[in-house]
Amino acid sequence: MIIDIDRLSPEGLEIERDFEFFNSELVEEEAVFLEPAHAEVTLRRTGDEILLKGRIKTKISLICCRCLSPFELPVDSHFDLVYLPEELEEEKEQLETEDLLKNFYYNRRVNLRKIILEQVNLTFPARPLCSEDCPGICPVCGKNIKEEGCSCDLKKDDHRFKKLKIYLKDNR
Ligand SMILES: [Zn+2]
Ligand SMILES: [Zn+2]
Repeated sequence: MIIDIDRLSPEGLEIERDFEFFNSELVEEEAVFLEPAHAEVTLRRTGDEILLKGRIKTKISLICCRCLSPFELPVDSHFDLVYLPEELEEEKEQLETEDLLKNFYYNRRVNLRKIILEQVNLTFPARPLCSEDCPGICPVCGKNIKEEGCSCDLKKDDHRFKKLKIYLKDNR
């Protein structure tokens, strides 16, 4: 969905719609959309500055980095962005520090689909976990402890070993 800056009325634009993306467009390799991304966006123009505010809701399936099982990540992301015309990008170095966080639009157009996708991609945790205390995989029998359970007799000493294994898995 491309928005022509010059055709944007002074009152701006309000958009509410679903965006469909390919799973391959997500930065997380194994991430899968469980539903389309529902976006509510307001676009306002002040001079050449575009203010984009909104909310995205969707559900994504991710793989837990500890137990390697898929889990559902609900996304409910709010964003508040400023887009400046591309001409200003060249002057970026002279812009104030706070301006460095600003984004740029090209050819007098804002690609809303691309922006929504970027925002979805920003919501991924660095280390996806099905739950904060996910016990991971048993270092002895290799079972998913939470899902399958395991009756291995992990002695106290082995406990450290287990932690190490989890650590290694997380940092692969
Ligand atoms: Zn897990
Ligand atoms: Zn076990």
